[in-house]
Amino acid sequence: MGRRRRKVIRIPKKKLPKVFDCLKCGQKAIRVEIIRSEQRAILRCGNCKFKTELPVLKQAYGEIDIYNQFVDQQYAKSTSTASTTTPTTTATATEPEQGQT
Ligand SMILES: [Zn+2]
Repeated sequence: MGRRRRKVIRIPKKKLPKVFDCLKCGQKAIRVEIIRSEQRAILRCGNCKFKTELPVLKQAYGEIDIYNQFVDQQYAKSTSTASTTTPTTTATATEPEQGQT
């Protein structure tokens, strides 16, 4: 009887999600880009083109941490400002560039 073979419990490397739910359009289309050298992160929705920037508070922060921070921020905003009567109407006039020929 030899040594008992130790059961190797392999922990499957769980792939951390890199795409998150967008709070604006509800689609799973938020991508997080971390720029560690500048200690900031950019969240971008591939669906509704929503974009925001967040500070990377800890070097250990991963995409999910950034996203959680963003969600917290959004909820904090919506709860602290009970009367949100300031719709941000950013009228971005996207006129088709008419090239003069
Ligand atoms: Zn979106």
